[in-house]
Amino acid sequence: MTAQQRVVPKTVKNILTRSSGFLLNPGGQGAVCSHSLNPYSGCTFGNSLCGVGCYMRANGFVTKGRDWGSFLEFRINGAESYSANYEKEKRWAQKERGKFGIFCASATDPFLPQERQYRITESLLNAMLVLPPDALILQTHSRFVTDYLDIYEQLGKVCELRFHVSIETDSDSLPGLPPPASTVEQRLSACELLSQKGFRVVVIVAPLLPIADPEKFFRRIGQVASAVVIDHFIQGDGTPDGRLTKKTPMPTAMSQVEPRSVTLAYRDEIIAIARTILPGRVGVNADGFAGSIHRG
Ligand code: SF4
Repeated sequence: MTAQQRVVPKTVKNILTRSSGFLLNPGGQGAVCSHSLNPYSGCTFGNSLCGVGCYMRANGFVTKGRDWGSFLEFRINGAESYSANYEKEKRWAQKERGKFGIFCASATDPFLPQERQYRITESLLNAMLVLPPDALILQTHSRFVTDYLDIYEQLGKVCELRFHVSIETDSDSLPGLPPPASTVEQRLSACELLSQKGFRVVVIVAPLLPIADPEKFFRRIGQVASAVVIDHFIQGDGTPDGRLTKKTPMPTAMSQVEPRSVTLAYRDEIIAIARTILPGRVGVNADGFAGSIHRG
């Protein structure tokens, strides 16, 4: 935590948010998840590489005018809220969306360094052992995702469990931008450990940043994950032309490394390489989150 980051407790009425946006999967292959669940409000990775282009920066409802990365609210009653709302939300989800699937997390990281102190995610996972969803996706940029292997082992017996680990590039630095919260190798190693334990792991290359050696990168991903999803900030940041991201320093830094990387042609080139190396294991855009690569 930096001196500028304010961390405070907060209570929440219902920690289960009915899904909207990309979680509904505009590709029409069914909802990725019926609900999102955020153990924290705010994200202390906001000042690291992923935070530069983070879509939450533009979410005034959450930031309330504060700088992204400057605040973190830990939801002290998260597990109680989950248990209290479980039956109602599960019933709604199974009726309206086919199944009760939880995406954790869409607006923070469940495995922030502060999790080691406040244990909000851990308490939620324990609550899910008693009251399991039908499916759970744990989405992270953090190497600390491997902290709860014992809980995952039990959870995997009572619900469909999947890990999404974001690795947007094979490089740990982009000119003028902060480093990632966990290095590329730390995240790949976390994927490897989770895969070795028998869990389903998907590497999320989104938003796609310049990749120095795509063949090597995707070969390595193929060793540590079952699938990869690739998305570009154009079409991928919630706007058709990537205008949210264009307001951030991200495109300039990308251009300095690889000018073509700010175009969809670059995305398509990278997808073609990934498909050659990992046939049948590459998803694209929002469809990739719920598409056929995840079935079976
Ligand atoms: S971990 Fe996720 S929510 Fe947090 S700053 Fe990075 S992209 Fe945004």
